[in-house]
Amino acid sequence: MATGIVGEFLELKEGTDADVLAMQCGDFYEFFADDAELVADELDLKVSQKSSHGSSYPMAGVPLSELTPYAKALVERGYRVAVADQYETDDGHAREITRVITPGTLLETTKADARYLAAIVREGAGGNDGAGGNDGDDGPYGLAFADVTTGRFLVTEAEDEGDLRAELYRFDPAEVLPGPLVRNDDVVLGAVREELSGSVSAFDAEAFAPGRARHAVRERFGAETADAVGLDSELAIRAAGAILTYVEETGAGVLASMTRLTTYGAADLVELDATTQRNLELTETMGGNGDGSLFDVLDHTVTSPGGRLLREWLTRPKRDREALERRLDAVEALASAALARDRLRETLEGAYDLERLAARATSGSAGASELLSVRDTLALLPELAEAVADTPLAGSPVADVIRRPDRERARGLHGELAAALADDPPSTKTQGGLLRKGYDEELDGLIERHDEAKRWIDTLAEREKRRHGLSHVTVDRNKTDGYYIQVGKSVADGVPEQYREIKTLKNSKRFVTDELAEREREILRLEEARGELEYELFEELRERVAGEVELLQDVGRVVAELDALASLATHAAGNDWTRPALSASRSLSVEAGRHPVVERTTDFVPNDLELDAERGFLIVTGPNMSGKSTYMRQAALIQLLAQVGSFVPARSAEVGLVDGIYTRVGALDELAQGRSTFMVEMQELSNILHSATADSLVILDEVGRGTATYDGISIAWAATEYLHNEVRARTLFATHYHELTTLADHLPRVENVHVAVDERGGDVTFLRTVREGPTDRSYGVHVADLAGVPGPVVDRADEVLDRLREEKAIEARGGSGGGTDGGVGAGGEGTKQVVFDLSSGAFKNGGPEADPVAGSGSNATSEGVASDGASSTNARESAARTEAGLDEETAAVLRELASVDLAETAPVELLSRVQRWQERIDDEEAI
Ligand code: ADP
Repeated sequence: MATGIVGEFLELKEGTDADVLAMQCGDFYEFFADDAELVADELDLKVSQKSSHGSSYPMAGVPLSELTPYAKALVERGYRVAVADQYETDDGHAREITRVITPGTLLETTKADARYLAAIVREGAGGNDGAGGNDGDDGPYGLAFADVTTGRFLVTEAEDEGDLRAELYRFDPAEVLPGPLVRNDDVVLGAVREELSGSVSAFDAEAFAPGRARHAVRERFGAETADAVGLDSELAIRAAGAILTYVEETGAGVLASMTRLTTYGAADLVELDATTQRNLELTETMGGNGDGSLFDVLDHTVTSPGGRLLREWLTRPKRDREALERRLDAVEALASAALARDRLRETLEGAYDLERLAARATSGSAGASELLSVRDTLALLPELAEAVADTPLAGSPVADVIRRPDRERARGLHGELAAALADDPPSTKTQGGLLRKGYDEELDGLIERHDEAKRWIDTLAEREKRRHGLSHVTVDRNKTDGYYIQVGKSVADGVPEQYREIKTLKNSKRFVTDELAEREREILRLEEARGELEYELFEELRERVAGEVELLQDVGRVVAELDALASLATHAAGNDWTRPALSASRSLSVEAGRHPVVERTTDFVPNDLELDAERGFLIVTGPNMSGKSTYMRQAALIQLLAQVGSFVPARSAEVGLVDGIYTRVGALDELAQGRSTFMVEMQELSNILHSATADSLVILDEVGRGTATYDGISIAWAATEYLHNEVRARTLFATHYHELTTLADHLPRVENVHVAVDERGGDVTFLRTVREGPTDRSYGVHVADLAGVPGPVVDRADEVLDRLREEKAIEARGGSGGGTDGGVGAGGEGTKQVVFDLSSGAFKNGGPEADPVAGSGSNATSEGVASDGASSTNARESAARTEAGLDEETAAVLRELASVDLAETAPVELLSRVQRWQERIDDEEAI
């Protein structure tokens, strides 16, 4: 066991669950042993060896003032960093851990994004089901989210696991604290790990206990808050309490910036499950990139709090019509007053991130330049008011927003800061120069005496020359000698006797006098006293600012709101967007609508959309790549934007408010991830069928594609009926199953629309125009052609398609050359060997009229080509039965054919496989 300083380090490390410990040793923070190597690896620090009682330990260190950037870098890589500080004791010094910096409590962040710490609590006493993980009883969950960098604190309850995931996805917390039961819940933790970028920290289960958590909430927000804000969910309180305790225990010192507890419930926001948030690419694209997301396109904010708020608005659309109309009024006013808007935005450009500055003031980490930023941002309030006065914005909700904070108090605080802070303060807090003259009498006195002493020294040389008749006299100061009088060698013999020589140089001598030494001591004393007093005064000032944390948050919020509103208005004005007419009706009626993101990069063809109580379900058909998906997403985004309080990309839009937007988007991820996605697809469908209501908007982009055709059609068919008859949600459903279009004849609210193409001259031109009625065919073969599949394959595919359509049957065609009689591949060119009958889903021998030959032993059997997943055994059996009368290659091809899952294989891939098989059979026959 190590002793000495390393022993102390290891002992402290033992007592914390942090990943890394930084221990103060004098002017450095040191890392020892494994921690030194970890830090060296991660941050490129140099490792040296520290000997301690015969053993040697790796050691790395950073100067005291530089810990923050290193700790920040470690925390951003997911480590929790404990910091042990050194303090004086009677017999020397001791050290203790004062803070644990974790991803969710890291104050120093360079990113503008919010940085949430989340706590999740699940119902249950922690008995039997505690150890066993998820027992299928999912929820409800209590949830709390706190952004320690701004003091934002939100709590809610999630009904089930889906809701929980949706909320987590919205906030994307940097750190998650799972409560006692959640800690063993693989499903929830798995979701956190897969879908979020943050880390999971185990935290004292006691902190989640109802009594203790409620106490923490009361302590922080006052006895009444818990009830007054409608926080009657014990689960939510438990989550909130745990966060408060955690923030306190990690020692971030920001508890005081958590001034308000905001509760929200399912009824306030538009339900947007995690899948939908991702599908609609609100803040990042499917590729996981921020560029090209809705936020990216809409973001014209000029401040980071403005950007943060806009992002929050987009991921948390509202249901309250009044609030939305207010926001729309503001956007409309700003959109139509270009000059006033520009002036407002220019003013906002001068604003700093007040919410964050407030948190830094509370935690004691704000320096003079941060307080200057507070001063300058407060100064903007009157400027903002002036920017809208006498403009069309004067009577708009924009002016109301500016009037909201307590401007009297803001003026007061601004005045104090302006009177106190020097304009160009040094970066250190202890050397003086932070504060202005006139701010504090005692300080002024010190400065005055300091200046006087300095003046005395500055004029000393002149006085000495005169008094003693000396030439060549200077007074100066350096590090080793302090202040001295320097006299040229030629006259050095004539100095008065009180001069004491301290140094002889080549051409001069240096002297001091008692008087000079006394002045020097006085100056040092005064400088020290000034530094101390200034620091004290500065701390007081910072505390004063911290005491106004609510005011700062209010003003910060105003800046953010104006910025976000102006951003929406700027985008609306620049892109010809229109104010949506909100209503309580069940309609979404859009004239000349566009996709907000696609329209930025494409010559976009606008389209109308008509959904209402009588026409609530549209089946959208059209060729691949014609624009179905875009059309449906555009509908969802227009709905969403309207409920964000934004203008929408359309000539006009009437938008009936919805309680939720649900999307299920196929193709892309299916192809990318392979088979297992059929399960995912069905889970998503299941969630929609369970969660959507008559007030929801549902977007289905292909359902049932990941399974065999008949399964797929059946599921899509039944889902349509259920959505139409039971759920009654407004629905857009794009499908490649043309069979579904006939549903319009049977279900009263179902209508068909299609994306039109022009097919003249054998070529398909995409028109991007949505028209009433169904298409009569699919265009997969055309895509194969576009993708460069060889001409003969495309021609043959066209032929196959025509025949399937007309005769519902097609023969498998062999190549030229001889072979055994009757078997596959045995005939001459163009000979029909087996026929696939679509209506029976089986191969038949000979022509379309021939009888099925299942079990005949000489041919492919009906089971052999059934394409559902359960057929593999049958496929093998039938292949074995077939082999007897066949050459080896043909039998191999047949086995492969039998094992192909039609529904899981892309058409292009199918075609190329068919071609390969033909080639192999041809080769075999040519031998
Ligand atoms: P589908 O879902 O039918 O396969 P998509 O919606 O993915 O087709 O659209 C294919 C391409 O067509 C997209 O890349 C998009 O840029 C373009 N597109 C779609 N709709 C329009 C439109 N209305 N105007 C212009 N281009 C469009």
